[in-house]
Amino acid sequence: MSLSPEPVPPVGGPQLPQERRLVTEIPGPRSRELSERRAAAVARGVSSVLPVFVRRAGGGVLEDVDGNSLIDLGSGIAVTSVGNSAEAVVRRSAEQLAAFTHTCFMVTPYEGYVAVAEQLARLTPGAHTKRSALFNSGAEAVENAVKIARAATGRQAVVVFDHGYHGRTNLTMALTAKNMPYKHSFGPFAPEVYRMPMAYPYRWPTGPDNCGEEAAAQVIDQIDKQVGAGNVAAVVVEPILGEGGFIVPARGFLPRVAEFCRANGIVFVADEIQTGFCRTGQWFACEDEDLVPDLITTAKGIAGGLPLAAVTGRAEIMDAAHAGGLGGTYGGNPVACAAALGAIETMERLDLNAAARRIEKIMKGRLLELAERHPVIGEVRGRGAMLAMELVHPGTRDPNPEAAGALARAAHAEGVVVLTAGTYGNVLRFLPPLVIPEQLLLEGMDVLAGALARL
Ligand SMILES: *Cc1c(COP(=O)(O)O)cnc(C)c1O
Repeated sequence: MSLSPEPVPPVGGPQLPQERRLVTEIPGPRSRELSERRAAAVARGVSSVLPVFVRRAGGGVLEDVDGNSLIDLGSGIAVTSVGNSAEAVVRRSAEQLAAFTHTCFMVTPYEGYVAVAEQLARLTPGAHTKRSALFNSGAEAVENAVKIARAATGRQAVVVFDHGYHGRTNLTMALTAKNMPYKHSFGPFAPEVYRMPMAYPYRWPTGPDNCGEEAAAQVIDQIDKQVGAGNVAAVVVEPILGEGGFIVPARGFLPRVAEFCRANGIVFVADEIQTGFCRTGQWFACEDEDLVPDLITTAKGIAGGLPLAAVTGRAEIMDAAHAGGLGGTYGGNPVACAAALGAIETMERLDLNAAARRIEKIMKGRLLELAERHPVIGEVRGRGAMLAMELVHPGTRDPNPEAAGALARAAHAEGVVVLTAGTYGNVLRFLPPLVIPEQLLLEGMDVLAGALARL
């Protein structure tokens, strides 16, 4: 057992051969050896979808320690949208590493933090004056959005939705809908959190047509009757639900809820941690219905793999928190900020919004074809490079998590990294890097088609 990890391989990034290549079974012997070391040293609560240890990654592939090359349809959960070790991310963060690694922005500031805040003001929806605060993780951003909304409104209640996911810290566990695995045995949870119905078209009792309108009316009625609009500091919502199963809220739902917030002095917070930064074919998913959130939380895709998160929003709301009230030792680390500037540069230079829309066109076509042939696919949905299929028992809408698990395992065994999601665990989701070569996408879909045929 060596003390230091393997020496850093000389070539990563997009120069890696863009191919699926299996030279051992999955996981291979080196990965299995590392899994044994892991089991003896790493807490069981931290688990992995696919216990293949990665050596290098780039473009649309992950190369493991056994020399297998896997097609990446997960992007480390919507993080490496610009690819793994994108040139501008590597260059800018390497320069920053060589200059200095940390001063703590709350002690002595640096330009990169300010530059990221300027980019966020430029890219997020709305022409109003904006401010940002930077953090390390998505959960931390969501917690801070709630702190800020409470300070700005002098109110306490927070409204969230069925199937919502906002993180694993105490407050964000309370905001998250799903018990297992996120909350189970970890309570008590933060108070003053109220959960409302989500406009989930596929499962709406009266069908998808009136779903947006009916769900919004229920939400507004429940807020009025059960919480009192005047007690609500913030409504926190994902414009497309991530862990909840890529549920696209029925059209009209989000604008109606946002309008209600505006009329009642409630801070409307869009949690764009999974949907942001070109993932859905727009900079932010709420642009699709011309929503202008008061606050927006970002993380995941923002910095090409380095840990960074942000809350961005209306200056008068953001500045309600007193000086010294927000921050953290590492929040807006200079290397992570440099990486974010590199990621944004890459998104603009390669027009990754267009890339996401192209991915949608290619993949959704294939997925819809598969849905016609396989009644186990209840619905294909999503936007841009955030696509999913919900699996059911044929002829019903009963969730079929066994099929989702079996398909994911079959894809993994053939060298395609896919993730599952959903309150019922019955959703197979696809989050390819936006720079993935088209032939890898198609090959990934072929593998999936084969697995479906054998199911
Ligand atoms: C991943 C995610 C979070 C939590 O982000 P972490 O960086 O894991 O803390 C919050 N909200 C949404 C919508 C997410 O997808």
